[in-house]
Amino acid sequence: MHPQIEVGVLGATGMVGQHFVRFLEGHAWFKITWLGASDRSSGRKYRDATSWRLDGVMPASVADLAVEESKPGHAPKIVFSAMDASFATEIEQAFARAGHVVVSNSKNHRMEADVPLLVPEVNADHLRLIPIQQRKRGWTGQIATNPNCSTVVLTMALGPLKPFGIRRVVVTTLQAISGAGYPGVASMDINANVIPFIGGEEEKMQQEAQKILGDFAGDHIRPLDAKVSAHCNRVPVADGHTATISVEFSSKPGKDDLLEAFAGFRTLPQQRHLPSAPPQPVIYMQDVDRPQPRRDAARENGMACFVGRLRECPVFDYKFVALGHNTVRGAAGAAVLNAELMFTEGLLD
Ligand code: NAP
Repeated sequence: MHPQIEVGVLGATGMVGQHFVRFLEGHAWFKITWLGASDRSSGRKYRDATSWRLDGVMPASVADLAVEESKPGHAPKIVFSAMDASFATEIEQAFARAGHVVVSNSKNHRMEADVPLLVPEVNADHLRLIPIQQRKRGWTGQIATNPNCSTVVLTMALGPLKPFGIRRVVVTTLQAISGAGYPGVASMDINANVIPFIGGEEEKMQQEAQKILGDFAGDHIRPLDAKVSAHCNRVPVADGHTATISVEFSSKPGKDDLLEAFAGFRTLPQQRHLPSAPPQPVIYMQDVDRPQPRRDAARENGMACFVGRLRECPVFDYKFVALGHNTVRGAAGAAVLNAELMFTEGLLD
């Protein structure tokens, strides 16, 4: 028997909200019964309040739902949040205070000490922050977050390598246009061009990676004791963030050790057969010219991280390339997988 759990989406009319709506369509456990947005949209049917920007048509199951104000009261216990960052702090907190489980894609709470920043394959044990968060804040609900869309690619690729003692990382990203939302980057800027700046992205990647790859230390997360340096670039790719990564370890492993670590990486989401978990979260591609965003990002339902071109680095120990789907594994799919993990941990009861 599958559970049938009602869920809501905050920020449902926006770009990420639409990705939630599409990703949750036909989900094995979760069913959208509530949609929240701003006063501009509340009271209108979802089909009227939303400019549907994704491929295909708006799912019929939500088209006639009335969009509500983003206030706790009528929403189901579990709400996914794709809120505009300028309003997410107060609204997500109001929901958590009122007893809701907020599974957020917004950046607002990611780096707070008592908020899990989850990549379920890598740091499921960080959910142990939830009782600490509830005690400290006096909440009956809770907030858990997923990382920035480029950080998720980096941390999924580094997760299997953590046992080798990661010391220093340099990562350069080639990030898809869809990561900038709608209308995103002006076509005059991005056509046949590279923009070597994405506001706040490098700082987010550096700090979030250290938290995600850090250890739960009784009542807090001890960040990974490694230096991480990120260069972030916007490139004319539709979907899929590529990251080229150089890494130094405390003691240099063999290349075969790394390949085995990628290939054998299976953790709680796979062991528990969570509905959105890719059977193999990190897939090493042997072809010298893969992975590529257009050919690979959407494989495995957009939930896997593809790596390739592992080779010795004359500066650090090794270098390789990694790729992930930014709007799926980097946004809606990431939050849904978090909620599936939280359900199996008994946190949605
Ligand atoms: P967006 O398209 O501008 O959508 C924002 C959503 O927030 C809309 O549903 C909007 O509702 C709602 N909203 C705005 N003001 C509100 C208010 N005062 N009260 C309640 N709801 C309000 O933004 P987005 O690109 O989807 O991004 C959403 C969040 O995800 C942001 O925190 C962003 O940083 C994060 N994120 C985005 C991407 C991406 O690829 N775009 C990737 C990763 C993370 P109305 O339609 O009614 O105005």
